[in-house]
This record gives sequence, structure tokens and C-alpha cells, in this order.
Amino acid sequence: EHEGLSRIGLAGLAVMGQNLALNIAEKGFPISVYNRTASKVDETVERAKAEGNLPLKGYHDPKEFVHSIAKPRAIIILVKAGAPVDQTIATLSEHLEPGDCIIDGGNEWYENTERRAALVEKKGLHYLGMGVSGGEEGARRGPSLMPGGTLEAYKYVEDIVRKVAAQVDDGPCVTYIGPGGAGNFVKMVHNGIEYGDMQLISEAYDVLKSVGGLSNQELHETFTEWNRGELESFLIEITADIFGVKDQEGEGELVDKVLDKTGMKGTGKWTVQQAAELSIAIPTIAASLDSRFLSGLKDERVAAASAFKGYGVSDILAQKDIDKKELIDDVRKALYASKICSYAQGMNLIRAKGIEKNWNLNLGEISRIWKGGCIIRAKFLDRIKGAYDRDSNIASLLLDPEFAKEMVERQGAWRRVVTLAIQVGISTPGMSASLAYFDSYRRERLPANLLQAQRDYFGAHTYERTDKSGSFHTEWYKIS
Ligand code: NAP
Repeated sequence: EHEGLSRIGLAGLAVMGQNLALNIAEKGFPISVYNRTASKVDETVERAKAEGNLPLKGYHDPKEFVHSIAKPRAIIILVKAGAPVDQTIATLSEHLEPGDCIIDGGNEWYENTERRAALVEKKGLHYLGMGVSGGEEGARRGPSLMPGGTLEAYKYVEDIVRKVAAQVDDGPCVTYIGPGGAGNFVKMVHNGIEYGDMQLISEAYDVLKSVGGLSNQELHETFTEWNRGELESFLIEITADIFGVKDQEGEGELVDKVLDKTGMKGTGKWTVQQAAELSIAIPTIAASLDSRFLSGLKDERVAAASAFKGYGVSDILAQKDIDKKELIDDVRKALYASKICSYAQGMNLIRAKGIEKNWNLNLGEISRIWKGGCIIRAKFLDRIKGAYDRDSNIASLLLDPEFAKEMVERQGAWRRVVTLAIQVGISTPGMSASLAYFDSYRRERLPANLLQAQRDYFGAHTYERTDKSGSFHTEWYKIS
């Protein structure tokens, strides 16, 4: 009965869909593909032929597409998040039958996934929201996959996703994340952590270039060297590459011609919003988002630079005796310590949401599946997995004995870099936020006593005491 039918289908053949479909076909799973605009179907079929006659069939008609897949059907959707997903589900579900399964692979807001799952489950369909990370190359060669939904639905595609995902020393970069929108949520925080990593690397670059005076060649060498040590990661590797790329249209390196204005698609913003909803501090990730907002104000910044001309700090810099080698070493340590804080924040956000939603998340396993395939893949993630293996309930990664030791070893360098940046007027919002997070977290007593006293003074919000239990109110203005 299954003869000639495909094992799985994929709808939405832009960058991600096309490459993931070819990856699935290459792993030996016959696949049917469909896209609203037919030309992309033909393009994908051509690529499947060119890349080794892969078992991939293209369809222009959604009904034929659905009927070409063996029952119970599994169909991955990879279209723009939001309304396009609803439209694609509507188009396909006309032809789907009870028992079939829809898997949305987009960067979707987790509540949309939960709403859609409830909707299609009424028709007897299964639903998964599966985060896919790794960009174009990851989709084609092996992404990190974060599927959420019912375990039953996951079983439909487990054999496929385990083969299609990136492979690392301890298995494929995919695991069943949890029910409902858990997969989308974890992918969202992954992207937030990615914002943090990119910001911290950019600040390291700024300090080395603007304070240390490193050339692009020296930056290339520095990041190449860093990629051989504890910072080894995809983002450090591509950063090293970027400094080596010449501008095809003029003198020097392309990086200097790129406008200092960042784009964004929303997952970073969602991460910060969710953290606020859950009262979880993620200052490094929030600083990274704010930095993107500020980068967008290019014209205002140009005007402000001119308004503050003459009040600069270049004379301070001129007085500094900078030892390049020492600075490079300090910045490397500051970057590493800042990164530990950023991951501690992201993981705490994931845990808090998991508790709120009863998702029963496994933070060690989530760290493991980020070791390969995705943008934040790094040697460092093995260390995070190790921390959760040692104590799956640890309150913060900062308390893990290994990470704690590393932070203490690096704090001198970290403070020197942040202080230097502040003195010369180079902003390092991510590194500073990480350091302030560390310093707040490790302090037994914060000035929150005064803040709470103020709240009680003007709003009778009450306070607790250090020496006895209970809730107290004082009429502060009457006592003096
Ligand atoms: P995209 O640019 O986000 O979306 C383009 C695709 O969406 C096309 O197939 C397009 O079909 C389809 N589409 C748009 N509106 C539609 C509608 N109303 N009805 C039906 N189809 C519609 O594609 P992408 O970059 O490949 O990303 C796909 C998903 O993966 C997104 O959620 C994205 O956030 C996520 N993602 C992307 C990356 C990346 O590196 N690009 C990485 C991870 C995750 P037509 O051809 O007919 O216009």
C-alpha cells in the first residue's frame, strides 16, 4: 500500500525548507515537497537531482502533495511564522486525515503553537512545534532540532529527526523537549542567548580595536587563536573569518564597510518580554537587545557624536599605556566570564517557564542538543551539560563549582576590561551587565533594604525584618 508513497512531506521551500528537505532525502527518507509559489518546487526538484538524485518529489497541488505521503502522514511546515502558518495549515488540513501529524519548524511564538495544536487535535490530527537552528548550512548538513508537543506526535518523526540532526559525540542534536509549545520556547531562548553571544563578541572586538588599536589582521589572528581554546565555537570561528574577508569593491576589509546598524526578527525581544513576565533577570540578553535598538539610531548617533565633539575621551586613551598582549588576554577572560553569566540567565529563564507550564524540562539534555548544528554551538556547552549532570537542580550555573572557580579566576581581568572601557568611553553593555549580574548575585546584602523602606514610606507596601519574621509597616515620617 505504501509503495511509491513518501515517508514524509515538507511545505514551504524558502532557504530553510529547501535545505531541510534535501537533508531528509539524503538521509534516505523519500520526501514530497510543496510551496505556495510553484517555482520554488521546481527549483528544489532540480537541486535534488543535481545533488545526487535524492528521493524527493515536488507537487504544485496541495491535494496531490498530501496524498503522495504514506499514512499516518507527517508534514513539516517551514514558512514565515505567524499568519502564513495558519494559512498553510488550512490549505493542507482540507486533505489530511485523523492520525496525520503537522510539524511547524518555524521560529514561532510558543502560544501560537499551543493554539494550533488544540485546534487540529479536534480534527484528530497531531501537532509539533519544532525549533530548527543552524541557518541554511545547518538545515542542509545537520541542524539542532527542538521539537515540542505530544510525545506520541514526536514518535511519528523520531527516526527521521534523529538522522537529520547534527551528530555530536553523545548522540544526535535532537531530543523531545516537552509538551505544548516547549520546543518553540526553548528555541526562542536559544536565539536570545545567541543575541548575547554576538553582542559580547562585538564588544570584545570594539575594545580590542578602539582601545587596543588592533588591525583586522591582528583581530583575525586573535579570534583564530581564541577558537583553539575555551572559547571555541561557531560564532568565534566565523568572526575570525569575517576579519579576513577583503572588500571586493574597494580597499581594505569588508567588515569596515558594513553599516553599524543591526536587523532583528523578534525572538530576542520575545525572550526579554518573557523574562519580564516571569520575573527572571536576564540583563546580558536585555542589554544585547537594547544595543540593537541603539544601533538602529544611526542618524541620531551621528548627530550626538557631533554634539559631544570635544568632550570625548580620546585624550584619556592617549595617556593609557596599553599592552596589546595583556589586553587581548584580559578581553578573552572577560568575554568568557560574561558568557557564563549570559547562559546562566538563559537557562534560568527556560527552567522558570518549564516550572510554570509543567513541561518537565531537562536542562542538561537541552544543553547537549546545542553542542552541534546550531548557531551557539560551542565546546562550552559540554561544560554546561556537565554542570547539570552534576546537579540537575542547581539554582544557577554560577554556583557550579567549576564555573564558580573560572569566574573567580577571571574576575580581575573582567573588571580591568570593563573599567578601561568605562574610562575611555567605549560602551560594553553586555560585559558590564554580566559583571553587575555576577556582583549582585554573589552579594549577601543588597541595598534593597533602602528601596523597600522607600516603598513602605510612600506606599505602605510593608517590609520584612532581618531579625524576626512577619510583615511590618512604619509611619516613617512621624519618627525622627
Ligand atoms: P521565510 O523567508 O521566513 O518564509 C518564506 C516562505 O514562507 C516561503 O516558502 C513562502 O512561500 C512562505 N509563505 C509566506 N507567506 C505565506 C502564506 N501566506 N502562505 C503560504 N506560504 C507563505 O523562510 P525561511 O527563512 O526559510 O524561514 C522559515 C522559518 O524558519 C521561519 O519561521 C524562520 O524564522 C525560521 N528560521 C529561519 C532561519 C534562517 O536562517 N533563515 C533559521 C532558523 C529558523 P512563497 O514562496 O509562496 O512566498
